[in-house]
Amino acid sequence: MIVKGEAIVLRCINYSNSSQIATFFTRGEGKVGVIGKGTRKYSKSSLSPGSLELLSHLDIVYYYKPAGSLATLKEYDVKNYFPGVRNNLNQVFNAFYILELVNECTVEQDPQKELFEVLLFAIKNINEGEDPTKVRLFFQNSLLHLMGSAPDFRTCQHCGRMLQGQPGLFSILKSNIYCLPCRRFSQGSGMQLDSESIHYLQSLSYVKLETMKHVSFPPIVTRQLDTLFRFYFRCLLNKELKMTKYISRKVIS
Ligand SMILES: [Zn+2]
Repeated sequence: MIVKGEAIVLRCINYSNSSQIATFFTRGEGKVGVIGKGTRKYSKSSLSPGSLELLSHLDIVYYYKPAGSLATLKEYDVKNYFPGVRNNLNQVFNAFYILELVNECTVEQDPQKELFEVLLFAIKNINEGEDPTKVRLFFQNSLLHLMGSAPDFRTCQHCGRMLQGQPGLFSILKSNIYCLPCRRFSQGSGMQLDSESIHYLQSLSYVKLETMKHVSFPPIVTRQLDTLFRFYFRCLLNKELKMTKYISRKVIS
């Protein structure tokens, strides 16, 4: 069966002298593993799209294979190579972190159109010069919501009171927030969050990615959200992402 569609390249490795193996996140079919026979030899010209590159947004045609085996790429064209992202290391690191996160949080051939749109929107925004750390934090938050794994930051898990204008303790283990008087009930590792960070986390639960341009995080909020999401995804995935060591150095202190 031949499938046509759009894809973003999540992973790509060279395979033999001429071929490449890639993981695509496609708009219609979700994550798909493909082999590109001969693609490594392609050079950028009017007749050829060039070899497969991480991050690129492609039009693709491939021969379908069941999940677990590699589909064969028949042809492709580059819709956007995102040259703006590739100009700057901080942009590259954050964009590659987002790709790794999508790869780790999805399984093959589980269509997730909304996630595809959010991923494309995030990469386009980094490409257009939006603060890459802010885009990544928005993306991480959106991904948690799409996965159905977003914690409730509004009410204390123990006493049930709304947290408004006060700091709290987020329990990584229980994935819940506690007001400070109830912190002893959180059991295990927790992270204290300022009232400002809690306010942003509560707002983000219903803010759409499109409104990102109008929101700016104070440095303390950036630091706390960065740490929170990093630990939380590590807990969810039971592993540290490879790109973590590159992005964490770049958060404003
Ligand atoms: Zn409480």
